[in-house]
Amino acid sequence: MTARIDHVLTSGTFSLDGETHQVDNNVWVVGDETECVVIDAPHDADAILALVGDRRLKAIVCTHAHDDHVRVAPELRERRGAPILLHPADKPLWELTHPDLLWDVDLSDGQTLTVAGTEITVLHTPGHAPGAVCLSVPDLGCVFTGDTLFQGGPGATGRSFSDADQIKNSIRTRLFRLPDETVVHTGHGPDTTIAAERDNLA
Ligand SMILES: [Zn+2]
Repeated sequence: MTARIDHVLTSGTFSLDGETHQVDNNVWVVGDETECVVIDAPHDADAILALVGDRRLKAIVCTHAHDDHVRVAPELRERRGAPILLHPADKPLWELTHPDLLWDVDLSDGQTLTVAGTEITVLHTPGHAPGAVCLSVPDLGCVFTGDTLFQGGPGATGRSFSDADQIKNSIRTRLFRLPDETVVHTGHGPDTTIAAERDNLA
């Protein structure tokens, strides 16, 4: 039995640098009938747990620590006993949202997570945020890019803790080494492919 991908869109806010924006976020769940991991925890724990169902939640993996990706991570942890995984370079962003809480496990570049017999490889892709990661799943022919790569190009780098040159470098040196046909599941908006975004960035 191979892993499958479930998806839900949640709506709410993203706040940074004294501004608040209305946003829709993609939440991705990778797993099988018995266990799964959640990728990002925005806005609405009930909506996310409806996808998890009665499966064992192995981990809450955060692509980065902007508040629209981590806000309900502690609630999910509390309700389902799953650890929160985050790259430690995003500590300053995490503390803006959850100053009195910590995540549980540091993500690191090249690390492999396993769920439902499927390997997920962590790619550290700083730029949108210092601790931004993408999650490559070759068995499923896809990569989860958070806010690092969207349909149409790189994620935003106009706010604090972002770096435009760094995000382009991350995309070129890490994501563009994936096969052309790799499906890109993003943090906001529609899917794309590595081939399409290679053309967009060129
Ligand atoms: Zn973000």
